[in-house]
Amino acid sequence: MSQYWSPAVRELTPYVPGEQPREQVIKLNTNENPYPPAPGVSEALRNYATDHLRLYPDPTSYALRATLAESYGVSVAETFVGNGSDEVLAFAFQAFFRHDAPLDVPSITYSFYPVYANLYGITLRKHPLNDQWEVDIDSLANASERSGVIFANPNAPTGHAHSLETIEALLKRVTDRVVLVDEAYVDFGAESAVALIGRYPNLLVTGTFSKSRSLAGLRLGYAIGSPELIDGLQRVKDSFNSYPVDSLASLVGIEALKDKEHFKACRNNVITTRERTRLRLEQLGFEVLPSKANFVLAQHPSFEGAQLFAGLRERGILVRHFNTDVLNNFLRITIGTDDEMDSLIEALESLI
Ligand code: PMP
Repeated sequence: MSQYWSPAVRELTPYVPGEQPREQVIKLNTNENPYPPAPGVSEALRNYATDHLRLYPDPTSYALRATLAESYGVSVAETFVGNGSDEVLAFAFQAFFRHDAPLDVPSITYSFYPVYANLYGITLRKHPLNDQWEVDIDSLANASERSGVIFANPNAPTGHAHSLETIEALLKRVTDRVVLVDEAYVDFGAESAVALIGRYPNLLVTGTFSKSRSLAGLRLGYAIGSPELIDGLQRVKDSFNSYPVDSLASLVGIEALKDKEHFKACRNNVITTRERTRLRLEQLGFEVLPSKANFVLAQHPSFEGAQLFAGLRERGILVRHFNTDVLNNFLRITIGTDDEMDSLIEALESLI
């Protein structure tokens, strides 16, 4: 606490990101991609310093948005890009959820949502997951007098994804406020709600280049939605920072979007390794929640999450452990390469 902080800043509970270790470890704690980005990315970087660095970037990120629009079969006016999807989410909270009513969220979901809610003075109404650890869409849809609805699909950290049909059923029932579907992990096996954009002007889908495009270090995220929602995001962006996406991020993002073969190959590797890891964890006695993401959430009936987390850490393997009542016994394990997952399984075998 400092006497210089405003009352609002005193009340903040900031998000705690997964650890970025300085020593060499097998890093399975922040859902990064184990494969390098598309080869075109290195190519684009070669002349970048001399050609671009001197100048401000395009504040509208037109070229990147045009490539994004083409990739997703939407118009440029339906796209928005930002400095990581975390920033896009922050803009969306500011643009759409600051009404005098609660925001409907699943009780277990991405832990940045409560942080933004607190930052912007938005009250959350938390809806427990059902007994299958799934987001309870019916419960979200049933509430009334709300500022909006937000959930991740696939959800984090459970990995469960709802079908497009289920999401459309929710959209049919919630028409007065924005429904935000956070698709950070959608490419690892779930269906994208972008297909519904044209029919539901209150649907905003967010996504990231950090996971399936191996660019977590670049900080690039996007939103797709009706032009009126995109205008709302732009109003917030232009009241905060005209250039959240620098010219390097645009250049690299375009190259990553263009290389569809590389994207599919890496994505398929992660999916295959995930299913292999899931079986091997189950053979060790773990309960593994079915996942459509690049991580699995697993718990062992005889060992505490904290104990396994510490044991893995001692063996140079970093996974994520959440210190909350409900998730305390679980480990969230990012899917790395087959070799990394072999090391994980070996370490767990020695611990169990
Ligand atoms: N949404 C979810 C559900 C996430 O897990 C993450 C990653 N922490 C993000 C959004 C943000 O990703 P980024 O800011 O790297 O785009």
